[in-house]
Amino acid sequence: MGDSVACADILKFKVLAKCSRSRARVAELRIPHAVLQTPIFMPVGTKGTMKGLTPKQLERCGCRMMLSNSYHLAETPGMEVLQKAGDLHNFMKWNNGLLTDSGGFQMVSLAKLTKLDEDGVEFQSPYTGAKMTVTPEYSMQVQNTIGADIMMQLDDVVKTTGEDDRMKDAMYRTIRWLDRCIAAHKRTDHQILFPIVQGGLNFEYRTICAEEMVKRNMQGYAIGGLSGGEPKDQFWPIVKHTAHLLPYNKPRYLMGVGFTLDLIVSVALGCDMFDCVFPTRTARFGIALVPTGQLNLKHSKFKNDFRKIDDECDCQTCQNHTRSYIHHFVTQHAVFASLITIHNVTHHMKLMAKVRESILKDRFPEFVDGYINSQVKRSSTPKWVIDALASVNINIKDHKSTAAASAAVVDDVVDDVATDVVDFGGGGDVVCDGEKCAADGNLTTANCGDSDRK
Ligand SMILES: [Zn+2]
Repeated sequence: MGDSVACADILKFKVLAKCSRSRARVAELRIPHAVLQTPIFMPVGTKGTMKGLTPKQLERCGCRMMLSNSYHLAETPGMEVLQKAGDLHNFMKWNNGLLTDSGGFQMVSLAKLTKLDEDGVEFQSPYTGAKMTVTPEYSMQVQNTIGADIMMQLDDVVKTTGEDDRMKDAMYRTIRWLDRCIAAHKRTDHQILFPIVQGGLNFEYRTICAEEMVKRNMQGYAIGGLSGGEPKDQFWPIVKHTAHLLPYNKPRYLMGVGFTLDLIVSVALGCDMFDCVFPTRTARFGIALVPTGQLNLKHSKFKNDFRKIDDECDCQTCQNHTRSYIHHFVTQHAVFASLITIHNVTHHMKLMAKVRESILKDRFPEFVDGYINSQVKRSSTPKWVIDALASVNINIKDHKSTAAASAAVVDDVVDDVATDVVDFGGGGDVVCDGEKCAADGNLTTANCGDSDRK
């Protein structure tokens, strides 16, 4: 491929500020439908909207870029309807940033995979039962019809915990499929194609893959195949290694990452864009995200709690409703999910805004230290967090000793979570044990791996 330009130059990325210690940076990202600042979190709206939220409500949460799943859109409303509407932006009246996945992973996770070879992925549709083959060309055709600002290449996704040989094959196949996607992309003057660096937990494979993709001179790069259940002490070195191989002056998108600590660490390691179903899916289980952790609003202690979910939040839910009110119909009425979704999406938008602000003021290390202190209660600061941050010159304290002092303040969080059955989609139900998750090195409740996106 040499240095050929694969796409018209319709993405502009300008680094505005860089943390003087870590690799965190703030940049302006210009894409056809939006001017954004990174680091950015993109909520996932499976079928062209967040479950339970209108596009306008999503905009009011401060969201200017969202992700949609090609596969679901291809099934419903279908390509014909989207063509008639013009594109998905028009169809959903969303004049903001949109990113679509290739459809490959969705199919593999949701459907019965029947065959995977050089041509593409063959699977059985869970909607119709019919066999379908998704090739790089078909994925581009679908994504060109949807018309999102950023499209993802079809990649060969393997579990990071899988066999090494399979990982290597998948990495090389992903490079070959990228070339087919580049050749099949018909709207280079309107849509940007991101490649996905694969290679599992193998540094050498990640290096080969990143170098090959950088040769294609793409406008941005994604790091894929992570957050699929690999240990955190293997996750962060791969993120750091891979991000560093990618060009400084282009956006780096870490796929499937959305737990708050993971976001903050990955920003420190040099990543700019993130997506995850976590804030929206967890809302549907009655769990609200707050600066000190999480509130399980199903818990009976909220029956007489007339405070807002979060005193400092000005989202529509917090402006109008109390914990008690939401507890009153939590899990019994779809409205509760919308109310918590509004709050959780706003929470993630504000978190990223605070991250950006701290980088702009060159106070990111102080922000990280303060944030982790506010989240830690009984468990000590996870070792992987300390190690990952130390590797980029952010030395945070182990907050275990100070955690007891703040326990009174955060009495209503985290410990309520107990054991919940959390449907993470794709992989079926998993039992999430909040304490066990904390022991694994994470402060999130539903920290069971997000099998919906990788
Ligand atoms: Zn709120």
